[in-house]
Amino acid sequence: MLQNVRNRMWIGNEWVDANDGGTFETVNPATGERIADVASAQAADVDKAVASARAAMVDKGWRGMNPHKRSKLLWKLADAIEANADELGALETADNGKPYFEARKVDLPSVVENFRYFAGLADKIQGDTIPVAGPFLNYTLREPVGVVGCITPWNFPLSLAAWKVAPALACGNAVILKPAEQTPLTALRLGELAAEVGFPPGALNVVPGFGESAGAALVRHPDVDAIAFTGSTEVGKIVMREAAETLKKVSLELGGKSPNIVLADADLKSAVRGASTGIFYGKGEVCAAGSRVLVERPIYDEFVAAFAERASKATVGDPMDEGTRLGAIVSEEQLDRVMAYVEAGKAEGARLVSGGERTTVDGKGNFVTATVFADVASEMRIAREEIFGPVAAVIPVDDVEDAIRTANDTIYGLAAGVWTRDIGKAHRVAREIQAGTVWINTYNQYDSASPFGGYKQSGFGRDLGYAAALDKYTQTKSVWVAVDG
Ligand code: ADP
Repeated sequence: MLQNVRNRMWIGNEWVDANDGGTFETVNPATGERIADVASAQAADVDKAVASARAAMVDKGWRGMNPHKRSKLLWKLADAIEANADELGALETADNGKPYFEARKVDLPSVVENFRYFAGLADKIQGDTIPVAGPFLNYTLREPVGVVGCITPWNFPLSLAAWKVAPALACGNAVILKPAEQTPLTALRLGELAAEVGFPPGALNVVPGFGESAGAALVRHPDVDAIAFTGSTEVGKIVMREAAETLKKVSLELGGKSPNIVLADADLKSAVRGASTGIFYGKGEVCAAGSRVLVERPIYDEFVAAFAERASKATVGDPMDEGTRLGAIVSEEQLDRVMAYVEAGKAEGARLVSGGERTTVDGKGNFVTATVFADVASEMRIAREEIFGPVAAVIPVDDVEDAIRTANDTIYGLAAGVWTRDIGKAHRVAREIQAGTVWINTYNQYDSASPFGGYKQSGFGRDLGYAAALDKYTQTKSVWVAVDG
């Protein structure tokens, strides 16, 4: 089924092996089978990629390319991704375990749209002329930051790579993409497709490998100007510390423990559906997953019963089957982590009302049933720590004040949802929640045009949207010209 499994590093528009010949295995989590041995980048390989990227940042190369042409290349890359969407979707499903439906019908179209959106930005990046005192012309240039390292996680491998790579390229930077070690395959293919449509050598390099080796080398490299990182809060802190040494421009999109608030006047059916997609879409391996469901007491029992019932119907199965809603957890290690939280929830006294079972499909793979804990208290670990799996913690709240207080009682601030028919309450909650995104009567909506990122320990800097792209991937130069004498 899988064609075009690329397994070497992509540097300077060529496939290369790791300097030391090292490889690592990437495994299909739904079957436990090895898909490929992939080149494992170390510091010497990152050096090579940085040299290639730096060489592209000269006027005669990528840096000097006319912006209309840059725009056209990004558009052509979107077309190439679209033309290869079946193959990329299958690669993503094999590597990550997510349902093919999600990879092919949700992730891939959004990746295509993302490249098109930023293709539109590439030739609209401009400075200002500024009235200053004295006989001077003053203007600003918005220049690329330079060589940008993009470090991405395994949950939405191609989408989250696109969120960074597309705007970074649109702004004229040379990019080194370090995909997660669990899911390197679509990123490698992206590099190759970029070359096929005409991106010059060095504009986009892909260095697969582990965080502690390839990722850390990128963050430490003195000739890398910026790091755009998506991953765990724990690693985000390391990245920030390490990047301080060379004062890189850093942006971090990190973990979450997002509250999904259901007020008593909500449309119950929609709220149950929203709570369910909020935590079970993408197996709950979603930074913005609505992992805490805060429900107002008058509807609490009814809601819990309906939510548990819906969860019990979420079909666990072969990710390639159309009826599958919950695919395989990305790795055995991650599944162990999820199961440890299920045990912690039970031990701390939460009431398990659905799921919580480790399972297999045809005797293989890393699966867990859709899990709902009710009667969760804010102090419990399942209410405080990011699980990154299909485990919902339902917490009763007294009223809207209590809901806001409880929602904000977390170190994180990535996203939140609120379900109510009261428009005033909805906007009030949106204003008072400390989170980078708030969804009202919906959940998990994204668009290339709308910024996404965290408050508090969910990070800083935004992905998506043109303003955030300019902020992250350009720097401003002020030029002074004496105009008399
Ligand atoms: P997750 O919990 O999603 O696996 P991680 O933060 O562990 O998130 O990983 C996100 C990305 O960060 C991956 O590409 C991983 O290889 C990389 N990474 C992990 N450790 C480091 C590190 N010390 N320096 C740089 N990158 C790292």
